[in-house]
Amino acid sequence: MGANRLDGKVCAAKVESSLSSRIRDLAERGSSPHLAVVIVGDDPASHVYVRSKERACERLGIRSTRIDLPAAASFDKVLATVESLNQDPDVDGILVQSPLPRGMDELAITDHILPEKDVDGFHPVNLGRLVQGRLDGLLPCTPAGVMYLLKFAELDLTGLKAVVLGRSRIVGMPMALLLAAKGADATVTVVHSRTTDIESHCRGADLIVAAVGRPEMVKAAWVKTGAIIVDVGINRVEDSSVKGYRLCGDVEEDANSVASYMTPVPGGVGPMTIAMLMSNTVRAAEMRKTS
Ligand code: NDP
Repeated sequence: MGANRLDGKVCAAKVESSLSSRIRDLAERGSSPHLAVVIVGDDPASHVYVRSKERACERLGIRSTRIDLPAAASFDKVLATVESLNQDPDVDGILVQSPLPRGMDELAITDHILPEKDVDGFHPVNLGRLVQGRLDGLLPCTPAGVMYLLKFAELDLTGLKAVVLGRSRIVGMPMALLLAAKGADATVTVVHSRTTDIESHCRGADLIVAAVGRPEMVKAAWVKTGAIIVDVGINRVEDSSVKGYRLCGDVEEDANSVASYMTPVPGGVGPMTIAMLMSNTVRAAEMRKTS
């Protein structure tokens, strides 16, 4: 028997329906959430991601504005664009799509977004609040989506040994903080490219969150029977059997036969990331309305 499916599409639909009433409440108070997305260059994957964010906005009646800048745009131009959105009272949320063109200081750009408009949750103020255990602000979308998905499946994480693979600012680190936070109460190990014997860390884990961007790095044989697996990775690999490319995660699909719960790729964490972006945009509009 396979693992229970942690279905991100179903869960994201639930998030969206809960946002609808909040969006209506805002409308009654004369406010309509507005997300501004800045995209620099023509990376095809980034354009696909931005399009799915725009579609989610359309479904929910959230206004979205997309600002396309050429790949040759200077750092100052991107910064000035962010600054004008910071100053625009009609904009509630700002997102600068990653990756920026090679050599552009992404951290400096995202640091420039006002914390109250930082719907990606990457600003030091928002990440700092998370470190303090304050979970009521703008949280990074992917890890927040994972937490929502686990809660939706009514999984109690208390005392579980969790292993997070990856320590990025966007996924791994905030993921570890959320799992270890009061209320979630897992005991967390973070592994990364310098960790020795990742296999034995995984073998001892009750919960594995894989966010390394390495196709099927976590083998089914590394997974403890009954473990919960959240596969954040989205990798495009060549596949001769389909004469093209297929998407796969950071965990071998066969782990499904050992795990108790597992996210599909695609259809697991991806939809939750977008749902949390919508949620942050509504939250930003609500916070600005009451401030
Ligand atoms: P980064 O490249 O920023 O970080 C990858 C992390 O994995 C780093 O901490 C790195 O370690 C670690 N790592 C890389 N190789 C290994 C290895 N062989 N063994 C152990 N650790 C390793 O990636 P992101 O965090 O941004 O994304 C991770 C994955 O998640 C990607 O596949 C990405 O596409 C996907 N993703 C999916 C999202 C979704 O919505 N589903 C959203 C965001 C990301 P070190 O720090 O030592 O370099």
